[in-house]
Amino acid sequence: MSAPVHLENTNSYNDTVAEYPREKALPHFVNECAKKYANKVAIKFHGRNLTYKEVYESSNKLAKILIDNGIKSGDIIGLALDRSPEMIISLLAILKSGAAYIPLDPEYPKDRVEFMLDDSSAKILITSKKYHNHFASTASEILIEDALEKFGSYTGDEPRVEITGDDLAYVLYTSGSTGKPKGVQIRHFNLVNFLLSMQKEPAMTASDKILTVTTISFDIAGLELYLPLICGAEITLTNSDTAKDGRILFDMVKNDGITFMQATPYTWRMMLEAGWEKLLPLKILCGGEALPKDLVGKLTVRTSQLWNMYGPTETTIWSTIKLIESDNDITIGKPIDNTQVYIVDENLNNLTDGSIGEIIIGGDGVAAGYLNRPELTAERFIDNPFSGKPGDKMYRTGDLGRYKEDGDIVCLGRMDHQVKVRGYRIELEEIEHALVKEDDIKQAVVIAREDIPGDPRLVGYLVLEEEGSDTDLKKKIHNWQQALLAVLPEYMVPDDFVVMTAIPITPNGKIDRKALPKPDYNTIARLGEYVAPRTEIENQVAEIWQELMGLEKISIYDNFFELGGRSLVAVQIMARIEKLTGKRLPLATLFEHSTIEKLSLMLNIDSKSITWDSLVHIKPNGTKMPLYIVHGAGLNVLLFNALAMNMDDDQPVFGLQARGLNGIDEPLDVMEEIAANYIAEIVAQNPTGPYALAGYSLGGTIAYEMAHQLLAAGKEVKMLAVFDTYAKQTDIFDPPVKRTFNRVRLGFMKLFNSFALMAEDPKGIFKYKSELIRRRIIRAWWKITGNTENQKGFFAYDNEIDEASAKAKRNYFQKPLEITVDLFRAKKRTFYMDDYEFMGWKKFALKGVNIHDIPGEHNTIFAPPNDKEFAVVLQKCLDRASKE
Ligand code: AMP
Repeated sequence: MSAPVHLENTNSYNDTVAEYPREKALPHFVNECAKKYANKVAIKFHGRNLTYKEVYESSNKLAKILIDNGIKSGDIIGLALDRSPEMIISLLAILKSGAAYIPLDPEYPKDRVEFMLDDSSAKILITSKKYHNHFASTASEILIEDALEKFGSYTGDEPRVEITGDDLAYVLYTSGSTGKPKGVQIRHFNLVNFLLSMQKEPAMTASDKILTVTTISFDIAGLELYLPLICGAEITLTNSDTAKDGRILFDMVKNDGITFMQATPYTWRMMLEAGWEKLLPLKILCGGEALPKDLVGKLTVRTSQLWNMYGPTETTIWSTIKLIESDNDITIGKPIDNTQVYIVDENLNNLTDGSIGEIIIGGDGVAAGYLNRPELTAERFIDNPFSGKPGDKMYRTGDLGRYKEDGDIVCLGRMDHQVKVRGYRIELEEIEHALVKEDDIKQAVVIAREDIPGDPRLVGYLVLEEEGSDTDLKKKIHNWQQALLAVLPEYMVPDDFVVMTAIPITPNGKIDRKALPKPDYNTIARLGEYVAPRTEIENQVAEIWQELMGLEKISIYDNFFELGGRSLVAVQIMARIEKLTGKRLPLATLFEHSTIEKLSLMLNIDSKSITWDSLVHIKPNGTKMPLYIVHGAGLNVLLFNALAMNMDDDQPVFGLQARGLNGIDEPLDVMEEIAANYIAEIVAQNPTGPYALAGYSLGGTIAYEMAHQLLAAGKEVKMLAVFDTYAKQTDIFDPPVKRTFNRVRLGFMKLFNSFALMAEDPKGIFKYKSELIRRRIIRAWWKITGNTENQKGFFAYDNEIDEASAKAKRNYFQKPLEITVDLFRAKKRTFYMDDYEFMGWKKFALKGVNIHDIPGEHNTIFAPPNDKEFAVVLQKCLDRASKE
């Protein structure tokens, strides 16, 4: 291609010059804003509020810690943190230290993250205990928890570092067609120009509240995080589970006074699926892929403004924008400040007459090329013949477009094999490269299909080295998907595969992608045979799945994700289930219980708030001191639902459920470790306290140890409540003779007691005891047969977790503590105790034991009608404690 020497820019719509301080880096603007709005809330995150002053000072302190760790201007720092205020503080701190960041999604495959750390020669990786030593790289790790502990030794003023507009701000990796991702280098002036332009239009002010949903590994998150912080607006940050659940997002927008939100079409669809009908006072930005006509129709009547945002990562977030008023006029609009867009033919002639050509972007958004990829940079970032400035570059987007008469640009799709699936940018060749590395695959072509509107799926077309049987093929598909998952993010793994004897080609020898057949979704690979629903609830769930997934027959053991299920369908399924049964299950339930059989089981046991983080938001809203209740045997916290709902409206209640319930994490079997694990989650959510802890049965002992650790860390524990927990010191340190004597004595006492109880309530006690005996026999059988698989415990979880907690309790050496224990005693007795009055707590609780009798016996204190009285007593106790 021969470029013309110099062309006149004939297009007046490209006259976008706007003065701005190009030499100033982003922290300058964020700092100024923080000083102006010091006491205003900057970030809200699931119950936590941080003011501008707090964010300003924390990010300054962290920047100083980075500098003390040897960071200098021009260095690169990787950031792998779960979504939290600390994630934003870290981003700011990195910029304030003069370094540039690479956002790393900790959920991406290890290999991919390690490649990015290595490719960028990152000096430091900021991460958390959760991912400690997870990624192998030469970057030294700074754990955010350790850094936070050091804050006391630093002052909150700004670090003295010279940062200019030309310094690098971030390197963002996007999918690469040669098989490896490529890092786009964005400088401060690129980002500042973009943000100042956005501040004017679509426009954000200090009275705006933005709901921030995008992962930081997608560049558009830059708008959601930095625009509010230079405007004085309020960020409501979502965690990654919430960001996937259209119903929660919709509720938050509706209930939290949100006025501004940016997302891809996929997220808007999820929110519409959640039952969004009414107009909301909300300005929304939609971008990342083409804005579909039907979505425009739905969104314009439900929001106050809808903007179509267009731009590749390489020209900094968005380059053109358009306020969309009707579905007859969907364009990507005109360039933002200091940005020029050209539509060119292959000789780089500027096609201002409305002909179709490639969209090329010049101006202050253009990145400094790809890191360490000079050839690719030269290919995509070419000299700008229109600006007349020597050395000026413009970026070839690979998008087709044309000018309309009014100067608006219409985007007409791609010239290459880059696709967007649910907002993610994917080079199909990268997937094909990974597939042909598999031994049995000779040739692979991947395309994105949208056979069900709004539900794009990746389909792999394969030619194999050898044809095999159908069962063989099913196993192979599973193996290929697993192999891809190890190197590619989940959204890049094809949902379906079609095996062909040859890939169709066009008359001139190119792959004929249009001739690739539609997969037969009904014969989609399943490893087992079809099993029909067995119960009424399975029937209902199966019908919902089949209808919404467009499949004829789904076996109760088929996996939702292996069938190609995604969040959008998941939201639809959950919304339909809610309508039918009145039960709202979090989206995460479907991620964990991904078959009809398992989901139906969850519907049977009433389940309001099941996620597999230990910390479960049972009733997260309210202004009172939050209560944290630890699980008992049974390990799950569903039990506490009714109790929580009967407490005051503004009483937040959280549950702690055992680790390992998801069948992936190793269960913990040391009391101190269990407690530390829960504390870490509580402190991440509520760092300052004071804390109110409670625990049911075994959970009472865990809560006691948690109180111990919190007090040792200098935190305030205002209440420690134990729900029918017997405090028994471990006997493993006793001399063997004493131990045996005591165990035999206790055995006898229990036996006598059983007879006595039997006389009072023969039926109830018989039921209770026979269940205990049944469990003992089953456990013994598992031990004898050495069966370690399929040990479904008595509460539908792996027996391994029950065993681990029992072991933790057996071996726990309980030390006395300077604390008052609130003992909630079940009025009805089911088992023998040496000390009925204080249930063993007197010698441990050095400040005394308050006794509260509650209706029911050990296993029914949370069940109606007992829950009501229990809730009243507990609320009183909490209110009193919070005033002390
Ligand atoms: P990314 O680098 O992930 O932002 O992807 C950039 C690409 O997404 C562009 O080159 C377009 O192909 C596509 N894209 C982004 N926004 C839009 C939009 N509003 N309309 C059409 N295509 C878009």
